[in-house]
Amino acid sequence: MSLTTPALAGKLAGLQSSAIRDLLKLTARADIISLAGGLPDAELMPGERIAAATAAALADPAVLQYTESPGWPALRAVLAARESARIGRTVPVEEVFVTHGSQQALSLLAEVLLDPGALVIVEDPAYVGALQVFRAAGARIAAVPLDGDGLRVDLLEELLAAGERPAVVHTVSNFHNPGGVTLAPERRRRLAELAEAHGFWIIEDDPYGELWFDQPAPAPVAAYSSQVIRLSSVSKILAPALRVGWMTAPDRVCRAVELLKQGADLCGSALTQQTAATLLTDTEWLAAHIKSVRARYAARARALVAAVRTTFGDRLTCTDAAGGMFVWAEFTDGTDTSALLPAALEAGVAYVPGAAFAVSDAYRSAMRLCFTTSDEATLTEAISRLSAAAR
Ligand code: PMP
Repeated sequence: MSLTTPALAGKLAGLQSSAIRDLLKLTARADIISLAGGLPDAELMPGERIAAATAAALADPAVLQYTESPGWPALRAVLAARESARIGRTVPVEEVFVTHGSQQALSLLAEVLLDPGALVIVEDPAYVGALQVFRAAGARIAAVPLDGDGLRVDLLEELLAAGERPAVVHTVSNFHNPGGVTLAPERRRRLAELAEAHGFWIIEDDPYGELWFDQPAPAPVAAYSSQVIRLSSVSKILAPALRVGWMTAPDRVCRAVELLKQGADLCGSALTQQTAATLLTDTEWLAAHIKSVRARYAARARALVAAVRTTFGDRLTCTDAAGGMFVWAEFTDGTDTSALLPAALEAGVAYVPGAAFAVSDAYRSAMRLCFTTSDEATLTEAISRLSAAAR
């Protein structure tokens, strides 16, 4: 044994493992219906199409080589066209940067945009993957709550009026993880105005925008300002295993991210990026595929929400699922969802307690329910188990 134990970096002291990732290990048991995971349904992923596109990609040996750090050119071109249509202005290829899932975009952006101690505003409840990144970057974090129309931009305005000067505001604009809500169009416009007036970046984190049920998501925040860095990915529409995410950002941000990406992993996989490019280019097939995923998730979401409402009545409020993968439910009688979890697991159902996403508010009576990976009957059974546990 060595006499002096080698140290880990000091910045690790405050970091914790994601409570959700830890919980996932527990809920893999076959007798538990898990509403905890937050994973897209693997059975709806287009495995055969991915295999065929991968085989076709391999005809070009270049896909086995290292590629450019900002991404495989064919994929960047497809993404530039898609983002231009989505944002409503021409996004040049230089402003599209491909990352290892959109999570890597968050991680590289935190290094590029934040000095230690810089203020980052997140939503409360927050996307845990963003919290982990901003904490690791040594940022000071302040939270602004969500309501049914998304981020309370009026409360952000109060913080700004009180003299707070954020470097970054992070928002999951569509079908929030975990909050289930979507940022209202007039708030998008106002948020963009505030960014320009006060000189902060907005990170619009949008992996769920295409998973709408009844009506498409509103125009992105990025439609209102070039100070918005928009993130998205194929994880929820094709498969997370491709690890294809991207950001659209001003050229100088992309160039800074490129320097860090070189140090992080040199480049992404040309093979999975060409596969993604092929599938995204087959627009007729893609539209039909996404439509069928939407329909399946919508049916599951409706079954879950209906079960919550008929089983619990006023005791448990629940967001209307308009898209995405989650609803956010809150006990109105003070039931503590962390304390309830062991009984729920015993009854054979898992969820993530609201406390896992809490920044300022404790969200002790809240929970996130994921509806993507069980069929309607199983979701209904899950809520009846939850009711038994909560009795
Ligand atoms: N942002 C949000 C809000 C998410 O929910 C997720 C996935 N859980 C991600 C980013 C990262 O996804 P990926 O890296 O697979 O693109």
